[in-house]
Amino acid sequence: MDNAAHENETEGLSTLYRDVVMDHYRTPRGRAEVAAPDVSRDGANPLCGDEITVAVKFDGDRIGKMQVKGRGCSISMASGSMMAELLQGRTLEDARKTAAAFRGLMHGDPWPAGLEQGDLDALEGVRKFPVRVKCAMLPWTTLEEALEAHEKGEVCVGKDHSLAEHAAPKPAGVPVTYAATPEHEAAHDGLPPAPGKEQVMDALREVRDPEIHQNLVDLGLIYSVDVDEQARRVTVRMTLTTPYCPFGTSMVEEAKNAVLGVGGVKDADVQLVWEPVWDPKTMAADHVKDMLGIWE
Ligand code: ZN
Repeated sequence: MDNAAHENETEGLSTLYRDVVMDHYRTPRGRAEVAAPDVSRDGANPLCGDEITVAVKFDGDRIGKMQVKGRGCSISMASGSMMAELLQGRTLEDARKTAAAFRGLMHGDPWPAGLEQGDLDALEGVRKFPVRVKCAMLPWTTLEEALEAHEKGEVCVGKDHSLAEHAAPKPAGVPVTYAATPEHEAAHDGLPPAPGKEQVMDALREVRDPEIHQNLVDLGLIYSVDVDEQARRVTVRMTLTTPYCPFGTSMVEEAKNAVLGVGGVKDADVQLVWEPVWDPKTMAADHVKDMLGIWE
């Protein structure tokens, strides 16, 4: 990625913040098992298939030990890691206040003065991507439910508080490797006519977002396709659901390979852009909106 594109990407979202988020995603805190927790709770977010379990052992009115474990997208996992780090040893009242403050932050409120924020400021940029706010909030709503369950005298609501089911590492994004078929090779040799936009779009439908499991076209991530018929060169402008996407570079590569695989294409230029910000409400296909289940 060149410098100009990089500056674009970090608009409103500093590189430092991105690094903090990725650090929490790659090296999550609070994973250590809590023996005999007082309460545990499972949470899920169908958008990315995020699954999380929050288990707490209390120490009087404080959080003695907290385990946040699960699998899911970078934002949900980073948010859970930051939560575990920040709330360790804090009072239950602080925990509730922090959860409320984080919800406020995701909806544009300033962080309350005097309340410790830890690394959570690094997630502030997520509020520009409304669909992903659910991911950021998942650990917090799960914690709130756990604390509420505990208040009501419920114990270990989680279906498996040994958390063994979460022990398996998250599979890496399913790589979509495009292999040119012999037909395509032959087509290149015979210099077929440049493809139409629809042929390019069909090829891009073969590339999926590894976090949301839908193809780039139906998600509305492809902003434009231009075919230079003379040069047989295709230029694609695309975005990602969030600049935090850890698979961003590979998705751009996959898109490029897919375009290069279309008969008649000699060259492909896939540009990653961040304006306008992706908004599935207006950009995604209807079945994707239904799948996201967020339009009620
Ligand atoms: Zn997510």
